[in-house]
This record gives sequence, C-alpha cells and structure tokens, in this order.
Amino acid sequence: MRLVFFGTSGPVAGAGDSNVSFLVDLADKSVLVDCSGNPASSLSSAGCDVCDLDILVLTHAHTDHLYGLPSLIHAAWLSGRRKPLRIISNDSTRQRAEQLLEVFELHSKADMFEYRWGTQAEGTIDVSEGDTADDATIAWFPVRHGVATIGLAFRDPQHSVVYSGDTAPLLGVQEQAAGCSLLIHECSGPAADQDELSAKGHTSAAQAGALAQAAPAESLALVHVPPLGRAALLREASACFSGPVIIPTVGQWIVPGAFP
Ligand SMILES: [Zn+2]
Repeated sequence: MRLVFFGTSGPVAGAGDSNVSFLVDLADKSVLVDCSGNPASSLSSAGCDVCDLDILVLTHAHTDHLYGLPSLIHAAWLSGRRKPLRIISNDSTRQRAEQLLEVFELHSKADMFEYRWGTQAEGTIDVSEGDTADDATIAWFPVRHGVATIGLAFRDPQHSVVYSGDTAPLLGVQEQAAGCSLLIHECSGPAADQDELSAKGHTSAAQAGALAQAAPAESLALVHVPPLGRAALLREASACFSGPVIIPTVGQWIVPGAFP
C-alpha cells in the first residue's frame, strides 16, 4: 500500500496546496478519497489515468471535499472512460453529489459511464476480490462532524492506514487506529481553539497527537490543516505523540511505516 496527497488543507487552501484529497494504491486498485482541486490533473501527475480509477470515496458533503466531483466525472467521460466507477459514501453525501452532477447535466451525456454507489452508513469491502494472497479491505465508519461523515480504514497484509475524515476527537477513530501503521487525522487548529473546534466537529493538533498516542498508531499525518502556523501545529501534536508526525508533502508518495 502507498498513498499520495493532492491537498492537505482545510476549507481555505494556501499557495501550492489544495483541499484534502488523496489517492491510495491498494492491492493494485486505485482509490481516490474526496474530490477537490483538479482531480484529473492530480491523478495524472500521480500516474493514474482517470479512466482507470477504481474506487472513489466521498467522506461527506462539505464544499471542500466535494466540489471537484463534476470536473472528475466530466474529464473521465471526455477521456473515453466507459468502465463503471465504484463510489463509496453515505446516503446524504450521495444525494448532494448527485445534485452537483445534475447541475452540469452529466447524467444525460451520451455513453456516460455507470456509477456504482455503495451508501451504507458503515461497511467493509474486499478490494482484492478473493485473492487471499493479497487480502486488502476498505472499511468505513461514521464519525462526528457537522454533517454525516465517514472515516476510513485501509488494510492489506503489510499495513493499515486509518483516516479520521473531518471529525471531533472520537473513540471510534482511536479504536480503528489501534496498532495501525499510519493515522491520518484532521487537525483544524491549535489546542487554544479546542472548544470552538470541537463544537464544529473538528480536532486540534494536541488532540490528534493524544489520540494517536492512545491508539497507539505508529505514525501520524496531520491533514485539513490551516495554511498558516503549520510548524506550531506539528510541534503541538509531537508533544503529545511519541511517533513521527508529518504534514504530507503534496504529490509525494508515502509508504506507511516507512516515513519520515
Ligand atoms: Zn467538513
């Protein structure tokens, strides 16, 4: 398993960054998590043809996680994609995503490829499709945010990577992250803003570090990070977690358990 970030920012992205979105290479399947920036260009930069993307996960229906969807679907259709696209989301995210696609009348394009939605509130899929030598799964589970949101766990025989999604600190994420190679946790600000962040369904750097320590996770990546003050957020999380902490570099592949 390996992954590459297309953006690490919260709703307001700084120069050279985009909103949180990343690609996971899992058992020879490409899985895009959330859809921001210019997804087709980002996929291409990562060596993934938009026609070959296997699975799209939409964690929730907030603007910064969803606005790139029409562009992705349009670019894939124009590039000649005809194979169905598997999409994982909850039901309310699906409804908003379909409204967004409807704005551009993408459903009615000639030869538009099929979307295969899975919209359970939680679940697990086997992405290795019965190849037990390369057993790999994606699990999703509800987290605590302003709208219905899912977190994710990617597992293969070597590694497990857990993504919190946008959420206030949650025991369910900590339990998923027990012993994981990498916890990707949202970090929307410093501990000084903790009460306000929590009320909005977000997590501080100190809380993300403490949750990684309690799990325990082997390493921690902070995402959904404000553009300014990042060094201070890294220090704050590191003060609460004994493992390595990074804010991923956009466009750089990460092998879980092999960084920094
Ligand atoms: Zn959100």
